This record gives sequence, structure tokens and C-alpha cells, in this order.
Amino acid sequence: MQIVKLGTETLREKSVPIQEVTDEIKALAAEMLTTMYKEEGVGLAAPQIGKNIRMFVVDEGSGPRVFINPQITGMSQELVEMEEGCLSVPGIYEKVVRPATIRLQAQNENGKREITEASGFLARVIQHEYDHLDGILFIDRINETKKERIERKFLKKAGKEASKNKKISQP
Ligand code: ZN
Repeated sequence: MQIVKLGTETLREKSVPIQEVTDEIKALAAEMLTTMYKEEGVGLAAPQIGKNIRMFVVDEGSGPRVFINPQITGMSQELVEMEEGCLSVPGIYEKVVRPATIRLQAQNENGKREITEASGFLARVIQHEYDHLDGILFIDRINETKKERIERKFLKKAGKEASKNKKISQP
């Protein structure tokens, strides 16, 4: 399972709800967790593997969790600043301000609806992954100048790889 990087269209698209939690969805969630652990991430959203469906997985240290069709139904007025990184924007770490605690409604891998109250690092990871489902990246929530610098760097890299691939496919 390949993780797509900044510069890939699917990362910027709004994902669609999952109609039914089928065995296929369950298997995909399990595969996403495996990929997340392999890449030493704490969260992974479906758009990061090129699938624009509303699902993400998280393990910030308290065990694996699967969130399907999540909805944030409440957030604290209290804001906190924390450093974030992203498997789709490797090597970049920036401080982002977000609500300290959230309440989330979602289906788990068995299709069961659950409510999660999260604070601390878990609240942070969930909000980051939730953003992915709407095509939002953490760099959208930092200083504009810094964001543009990061985007330029990644687009240049993506362009180089594309032309390299083109060369390889030529006879
Ligand atoms: Zn991310």
C-alpha cells in the first residue's frame, strides 16, 4: 500500500461517505493500520492511499481505532498549539493551533456507531485525519508564506519524479 504525497490530486479532494461497512472496507482498514505502523505514523486517512472515502485509522499509543463516516459534533473553545507532521508531507513539522478537546461520532470497523470524547494527543490526531477527508492538510493551517514554501518544494519534487518516469518509459 503506497502513501500518496503532497502534489497528488486525491489528497485535495473531498471524500464521499461509505454506504456500507463491508468485508472489503474492513480489510482495507486493517491494511491501512498495517501501513500506518510500517511507516511509523499515528494516523492514516483513506485519501492518503488514493481512496476518497470517509475513513481513517488512528493509534496514538492507546491501541488501533477505525473511524468510518466520522462527524465532529463538538469541540472545546480552548485551543492548544502542537507540532504536527504528515506521512503525505514527509520531513515537515509545524506547530498548528486546534481545539483541545473534541466529540466525534463515527462507525467502527463493525459498522457500529460510537461516540468518542478525545483530548490531548488523540484529539489532535483525530482532527488532523478528519481534515484529510475534506482535502485539508495541516499546512493549510499554518502561516501562508511557510505553506507556499513547502508546496513549492513538493511540487518541484513531484515534477522531477514525473519527468524521470517519463524518461524511463521512453524506448
Ligand atoms: Zn496527514
